[in-house]
Amino acid sequence: MDASHGRPEVLVVGSANADLVVAAERRPAGGETVLGGDTEILPGGKGANTAVAAARLGARVGLLAAVGEDGNGRVLLDSLRESGVYTDLVHLVDRPTGAAYITVTPDGENSILVSPGANNTLRPADVDTALPGAGIMVASMEIPLPTVEHAVLAAAEAGIRPILNLSPVAKVSERVLRVLDVLLVNEHEGAWLLASGFGKADADPRRLLELGPRAAVVTRGARGALVLEDDGVTGVDSPEVEAVDTTGAGDAFAGALAATLAAGASLADAARRAVRVAAVSVTRHGAQPSYPYADELPGGGQ
Ligand code: ATP
Repeated sequence: MDASHGRPEVLVVGSANADLVVAAERRPAGGETVLGGDTEILPGGKGANTAVAAARLGARVGLLAAVGEDGNGRVLLDSLRESGVYTDLVHLVDRPTGAAYITVTPDGENSILVSPGANNTLRPADVDTALPGAGIMVASMEIPLPTVEHAVLAAAEAGIRPILNLSPVAKVSERVLRVLDVLLVNEHEGAWLLASGFGKADADPRRLLELGPRAAVVTRGARGALVLEDDGVTGVDSPEVEAVDTTGAGDAFAGALAATLAAGASLADAARRAVRVAAVSVTRHGAQPSYPYADELPGGGQ
């Protein structure tokens, strides 16, 4: 991004992984060797996915992440830049780029081994230099928990709206939950939070607000999303589409939500746009390659 674009308005803090996908007749058992097809290298990681989804909608987006100085790191940086993500905040470190080793078998089941590598080097102090200028900060997991927690607290302190996509779900401190502008979870993550916080897995999702965030959004797969705010619950239906691959749909939703909030929309309107973006993403293969640009959205970009 050149200097005329200024600092990113949306700062994404999260992981960048190379997804190394191999199709095989079956997954190897312990001690066994199985021959598979060619390795496909796809850009992934929740942070990078979120940043790409937001940037493709036209927001000025920066990603704070870490990759190694290796081939996989270059694949990730290229994908980010092609989508218009500001990559000056991506640290190049002396560790292998994070990788997800994915075996896909004919039964459609994936076995995934994740090696976080460079993602584990992201420190809380890295956030402090990245925050200035942003209006919205969206963090997701897959990086060290203290870094995620610091990102949320420091953003709130600086008057930047913190959004936490609590995926994969983990226990974060009550202090962090209380300063969130938006807590974003899928149904399972929401239920896990309520079960760990209130001892009841089938609790009403409205109780997520009792954990302290200003608002919460619960994604519900093909059923869309629920927006929970003090003044009530808004159900947002998803357009009906033929889903071929839901990989990264949650990250598409997160990126679209952040980009649309940055443009000044209400949370309910941002969720309405996010379900349209995520719906397009599930009709195409892959995560980042499936994310639409604004002009590809049915009915126009807004
Ligand atoms: P993933 O792990 O696949 O990235 P997730 O489990 O975090 O996703 P979901 O609630 O499954 O989150 O999906 C996120 C959003 O993607 C949904 O709110 C919805 O807008 C969209 N989505 C997911 N599946 C479908 C589908 N089958 N049809 C239409 N939209 C979908």
